[in-house]
Amino acid sequence: MQRNATTQYPVLLIHGLFGFERIGHFEIFHGIKQALRNAGVRVFVPYLSATHCNEVRGEQLLVQIDRVLAGTGAGKVNLIGHSQGALTARYAAAMAPQVVASVTSVSGPNHGSELADFLRKALRPGSLPEHVASAVVTLFADFLSLLSGHPQLPQHAVASLNALTTEGVATFNAKYPQGLPATWGGEGPEQVNGVHYYSWSGTVQGSLLDEGVNSVDPLHQICRAFSAYFISEAQENDGLVGRYSSHLGKVLRSDYPLDHLDSLNQTAGLVRKGIDPVELYVAHAERLKNAGL
Ligand code: CA
Repeated sequence: MQRNATTQYPVLLIHGLFGFERIGHFEIFHGIKQALRNAGVRVFVPYLSATHCNEVRGEQLLVQIDRVLAGTGAGKVNLIGHSQGALTARYAAAMAPQVVASVTSVSGPNHGSELADFLRKALRPGSLPEHVASAVVTLFADFLSLLSGHPQLPQHAVASLNALTTEGVATFNAKYPQGLPATWGGEGPEQVNGVHYYSWSGTVQGSLLDEGVNSVDPLHQICRAFSAYFISEAQENDGLVGRYSSHLGKVLRSDYPLDHLDSLNQTAGLVRKGIDPVELYVAHAERLKNAGL
């Protein structure tokens, strides 16, 4: 049956992942833009350059919001940001709340990423046993190569870790606290300066055997390997972001059985049986519509 999720304001899908526009031949929000369009949503995917700085990405987003407003005649936009895209959207909403109806964080490191912390430490010579540091950095390089299709590890991607560490995000949060929970693991305010805030995320659960077709997805295998490096949120993370670290505004749910890339329906729809990441976006557009956004 045809869904009707015609939101009042256009939806912008904000990618993170160090600014890569595509994973292989696939759109980064795999099948999500089309599903939203089929449900009547006006959808745009801004292109943000690879940079380690949330503020620079946020400024690029503000320019593209203006273009969408001019092109559609809409007065505001709904921002849905994945991973670092959530921080980008938060920046834009903090700077220009009058043009942002809502910010939704999907698997966003709103309190930093323990994996980023680990990598930062591993990259300091002598700070960790050589074999551990080397294994993790190699794994991360493989991960980025898979994402970007580039054979070489881009140096700026490693530098971008600074913006995603617990320390880096704490500095960001001090300047742009809108929507953050007051207590660890709690929910944030649903509305700040007229902007509605939502979040959802998942965790790596069970064993690889439970994953069905997802078990052959190399990105899932890498998320599962990364998951072992979490300490504070051991067993409660998606491979890149801890469950409670993702909380922002109204928390829709933070323990879907989704790894960090499953929440983009990657790779190419390979996800665990019984969960449909695309449906989460369509249902959320219905939620925004029902809220008059
Ligand atoms: Ca997957």
